[in-house]
Amino acid sequence: MDLAGKTAIITGSNSGIGLGVAWELARVGADVILNSFTNRDKDHALAESIARETGVTARYISADMSEGDDCRALIEEAGVCDILVNNAGIQHVSPIDQFPTDKWDAIIAINMNSAFHTTAAALPMMRESGWGRVINIASAHGLTASPYKAAYVAAKHGVVGMSKVIALETAEEPITCNAICPGYVLTPLVEAQIPDTMKEYGMDRDTVIRDVMLTRQPSKEFATVEQIGGTTVFLCSDAAAQITGTTISVDGGWTAL
Ligand code: NAD
Repeated sequence: MDLAGKTAIITGSNSGIGLGVAWELARVGADVILNSFTNRDKDHALAESIARETGVTARYISADMSEGDDCRALIEEAGVCDILVNNAGIQHVSPIDQFPTDKWDAIIAINMNSAFHTTAAALPMMRESGWGRVINIASAHGLTASPYKAAYVAAKHGVVGMSKVIALETAEEPITCNAICPGYVLTPLVEAQIPDTMKEYGMDRDTVIRDVMLTRQPSKEFATVEQIGGTTVFLCSDAAAQITGTTISVDGGWTAL
């Protein structure tokens, strides 16, 4: 697998899955553009360490994925986009009758609307270069639901639906669009919840992971950021050229239940 000469833009990639995807794409030769809404030395240092370790060109561009204009500006500033990974996402958990409107709006904007804006800006570049991959990081919650996650589930189902439309609109071109649907992935965000949950339930770490976090994941193992990155790399391969408009679950069997 060789993605040398291709440029990938990964939204929300200064931590977790997005950063893992960036590393895996760089390891097979793609130039990568990292993004988040902050603009700190340590954000730029992440890109520098990917460049140093893998030999690709790596940049960090600050842009707020809750703002449509910023989403489009990210793609314009990059100037080239062969692979677009729409990954930026946030979560808020609350019963629907108490769900704060500002949280609803932020989740819909960052988790769903951003993929519309970035894709709209990137498709002309893919058409110009004659090749493209749009890969949306959805979720098992793009296919199933859980209580108290109305905005997240709505946004992720929306992303799965949008992926099918993008696939149909590009079907006769060398461009594909798919959604990856991870189950629970052990990102820093998830790791940070473990100590509080241990305290709340009076359980040890392993019991919290197995009986609280992974109750719906039959494998009883987290997926890893490397596995999500590897699935992204596969979707960029020639073997995946006829895979478009579908979802790939990386969820330890969650959606088989
Ligand atoms: P994370 O918090 O580590 O990563 C989220 C990323 O989005 C961060 O880089 C953050 O800076 C960025 N981000 C947040 N708001 C932003 C904004 N306004 N503009 C730009 N960037 C912004 O969490 P993660 O677990 O790596 O999640 C990444 C994606 O994977 C999300 O879309 C999430 O819904 C999805 N996902 C995660 C899991 C899981 O278990 N961790 C499971 C399924 C799907």
